[in-house]
Amino acid sequence: MENDIRVRFAPSPTGGLHLGGVRTALFNYLFARRNGGTFILRIEDTDQGRFVAGAEDYILQCLDWCGISPDESPARPGAFGPYRQSERKAIYRQYAEELVKKGMAYYAFDTAAALEQQRTATPNFQYNHDTRNRLDNSLTLGAAETAARVAAGNPHVVRLKMPAQEIISFTDMIRGEVSVDSAQVDDKVLLKADGMPTYHLAVVVDDYLMKITHAFRGEEWLPSAPVHVQLWKHLFGLDKMPQWAHLPLILKPDGHGKLSKRDGDRLGFPVFAMNWTDPKTLETTKGFRELGFLPEAFVNMLAMLGWNDGTEQEIFSLEELAAKFSVERIHKAGAKFDFEKAKWFNQEWIKKTDTEALLAPVKAILTEKGIAVADDNFLSTVIGLVKDRCHLLYDFVEQSAYFFTAPEHPALESVQPKWNDHKQQFFMELIRQMELMQQWDATDLEKEFKEMVAASQIKPGDVLLPLRVMLVGGKFGAGVFDIAAVLGKAACIQRIRHSLQLLQG
Ligand code: GLU
Repeated sequence: MENDIRVRFAPSPTGGLHLGGVRTALFNYLFARRNGGTFILRIEDTDQGRFVAGAEDYILQCLDWCGISPDESPARPGAFGPYRQSERKAIYRQYAEELVKKGMAYYAFDTAAALEQQRTATPNFQYNHDTRNRLDNSLTLGAAETAARVAAGNPHVVRLKMPAQEIISFTDMIRGEVSVDSAQVDDKVLLKADGMPTYHLAVVVDDYLMKITHAFRGEEWLPSAPVHVQLWKHLFGLDKMPQWAHLPLILKPDGHGKLSKRDGDRLGFPVFAMNWTDPKTLETTKGFRELGFLPEAFVNMLAMLGWNDGTEQEIFSLEELAAKFSVERIHKAGAKFDFEKAKWFNQEWIKKTDTEALLAPVKAILTEKGIAVADDNFLSTVIGLVKDRCHLLYDFVEQSAYFFTAPEHPALESVQPKWNDHKQQFFMELIRQMELMQQWDATDLEKEFKEMVAASQIKPGDVLLPLRVMLVGGKFGAGVFDIAAVLGKAACIQRIRHSLQLLQG
């Protein structure tokens, strides 16, 4: 069921998708789903200098992986295409010209060199309501000279003429009333000399033409909002302007400043959703997906960075989020990113996910690490046994490898010092009893073991840990009798024998 609510995620294809970008996409998606609206992906690629090949595909793949595929996108065009701004180039000029005609924008002929000179001469130079009166533009040149220069083909840009002194206000869905003094805002370029629009013009024109009703974007765009309000006012009318929601920043773990890719590199956690390989340097940056995050956990974790449902609940499926999402519960303050907490979300989701659903990803990971899985049923049993211990999908490697390969060098160092004949006899007897066992399950194994312990006057702890090390190779893993049951009789006996030889040798 669709209604008139239309939201957009409008990334620039400049590289890997930062988790802040995915969260922006997610909040747009959730708002659309909650309200029966349409979620649009628009690629904002007007800045050719920052364009990076492959980034658009990567963005689409990220959204697909997260389960938040757009309803309309370059790959799935709706009635409002094209969905790439570079393919809409011809649309924008008329709007820039309309603003010039209305006296709300002007032509500027200043060369790059002249502007550079201004910047060198004046610290913090801005092209604004004040300096524009002394620069090379249609306001200072007059109509005849401007027309002559345009006719002669002199390169020029179109700049927005910000009012010298006016309070520009709008209502943000998260922040409420936002007011900015226009004197603080410079005269942004709207149309470049090559006819390409800048982000500011394109975003407003496209939000209008694509009938966008609500726009969630990062807080870093808040300073641009007065420019956009001004454009809306003079081009289409403020009554048609989308409702803005500027999302709180995602902060570094210590709360000081915005989380950047460099923080991830420095502190050893991913910041991108999926692996990203820079096509120029061929350098690959690790993503959450490749590190072993489930998409459900990644999305759940992102939703909680700046939102909650007002209760203590932290684990939400995408469907639940879509049903409960409310703008009123988005926080104003920045949200600290905590990688340990992110891993906790993943662990909870691994626990929650059916063993059958984990089979394919875990099998792929084990195969990648050189562990051959011949029997899917056996792997399912192993997954069921160890999944509560895994934070990341890669933890399945350590937690399940010993089911597939006998530990060649069990960590017997901790067992050796207290080893004695008594214990040696105990384990030899254990092998004999195991050989006699008709049933091979965890309950019977535990019963048999306990009876032997009671009969031999050994403390259970003195033989339980050695048994674990013999079977697993180290002091970790699931319940030792569960492990023994899954390993099977022959493997258990063989592993105990191997360790006994090492301990005696
Ligand atoms: N193209 C902008 C970006 O890269 C979009 C900002 C907006 O949503 O208005 O994030």
